[in-house]
Amino acid sequence: MGNKQFEKIRRPENIKLPYMLDFYPLEDEKNTRISKFFENLKEDRFTSTKCKACGKLLWPPRIVCSSCLSDNLEWVDLGVEGELYAFSEMRGGAPLGFAQDLPFCIGLVKIGGLLISARIDNARYEDLKIGEKVKLKIVELEDGRIFYRFQRID
Ligand SMILES: [Zn+2]
Repeated sequence: MGNKQFEKIRRPENIKLPYMLDFYPLEDEKNTRISKFFENLKEDRFTSTKCKACGKLLWPPRIVCSSCLSDNLEWVDLGVEGELYAFSEMRGGAPLGFAQDLPFCIGLVKIGGLLISARIDNARYEDLKIGEKVKLKIVELEDGRIFYRFQRID
């Protein structure tokens, strides 16, 4: 942590996305009650919410526990290193704005007791192995929003 390695990513400028087709969520406090997730991400912290009532670790971060409906939740760090649990490669049919990235890897990452789906960067499908370590990678959109991916550890 503390070793910021943001990488700018570009979306084609000729696509004016209606929000419903925008893959990335609106992240500010005005638009989401989990804006803390994105604030933490900007500080290299990958976090989610944990229920203080029943102890369930929730993903994605929530404002109400999906298990016991308590809203007594706390933010917890999941760490920045995980293990590749499963992976695949997207070769076609990418969502709007992602076609120029094809082919790219996607995977399930075991981190902090959760299984999280994400892009796996710096990797070719042929080189990935189940069980290998991957680390958090934070990418920044041109409009200032950020999002997470994972990448291979060389
Ligand atoms: Zn609960």
